[in-house]
Amino acid sequence: MKQLTVSFIIPSFNEALNVAAVLEAIRREMVQLHYKYYDYEVLFIDDGSTDGTIETIQSLAFDYPEVKYLSFTRNFGKESAVLAGLEHAVGEAVILMDADLQHPPFLIHKLIKGFEDGYDQVIAKRNRKGESRVRSLLTSLYYRFVNKAIDVELADGEGDFRLLSRRAVNSLLLLSEGNRFSKGLYSWIGLDQTTVCYDNIERENGKTKWTFSKLLNYGIDGIVSFNRKPLRICVYFGAIILILSLVYLVTTYFRVWNNGVSVPSYFIALFAILFLGGIQLICLGVIGEYIGRIYSETKKRPHYLVKQTNIEEREQYAIHQ
Ligand code: UDP
Ligand code: MG
Repeated sequence: MKQLTVSFIIPSFNEALNVAAVLEAIRREMVQLHYKYYDYEVLFIDDGSTDGTIETIQSLAFDYPEVKYLSFTRNFGKESAVLAGLEHAVGEAVILMDADLQHPPFLIHKLIKGFEDGYDQVIAKRNRKGESRVRSLLTSLYYRFVNKAIDVELADGEGDFRLLSRRAVNSLLLLSEGNRFSKGLYSWIGLDQTTVCYDNIERENGKTKWTFSKLLNYGIDGIVSFNRKPLRICVYFGAIILILSLVYLVTTYFRVWNNGVSVPSYFIALFAILFLGGIQLICLGVIGEYIGRIYSETKKRPHYLVKQTNIEEREQYAIHQ
């Protein structure tokens, strides 16, 4: 029987307290699966941690040959870490998992089962148990809005925790944009997918790297990364306001014609200026977002720089360099 290789990709930013536990959990799960002759590698991407994460990973790599690592020169963000993992993983199936044990390892066998059933993406979907009401409400409103604004479908609760087949990984690697919004990219590549559900788990050690402003920026990325619809919405907005103001102009003209001069108070003028000013600023902002993106794409910078690794130069499956 041919030995299949499963690659685990674990982006780790200041996770010194967690990496050993996550490796232990993966090993436990894979031992149970061993009768199926799965080989595996665990690829830690140290995203510029400052708490000794890399030393911990190196000592794990010393003890366990299946541990591979890449260490970035600074913090490049989770998206870059995941990309580095995808570029270096060799498995026929690749599982993306967070280092903080919020992605329950007992789902691994379900993910692999989905792969065996022939799916290219097996997505672990979480509910929002234990999360603040405000955050869940805002998130669900956001998804409702964003799914109208862009043409790929984003689902609430479907994050990075998923299994990707080699075909899916290679398809993702074809998308070479600098600004990566992976949630959208997973959806963009299509392919056969299925979901397995799990209950949300609180983080055990350390704290989340998502501040409110990071979440807000992520939200804006989701809206403007995919197509030009937001620009189109600005055009519609402008057109509607133009028509309304014309209607207002005509009706006022007739009122003046019929009743003599009765100038409405300056509130109307003030309102019109502020209203239009607001809309113009939003539209300018949207245009600016796109121009900013063009600017950063034209620089064609690498997504990350590697400081240390124990991965030898080997032929990669990656289609692009
Ligand atoms: N992470 C990373 N680089 C960053 C931020 C986060 O590699 O700049 C990793 C982090 O170590 C963790 C995963 O991405 O393994 C998810 O991060 P976090 O737990 O902070 O996000 P949350 O679970 O709150 O969405
Ligand atoms: Mg987390």
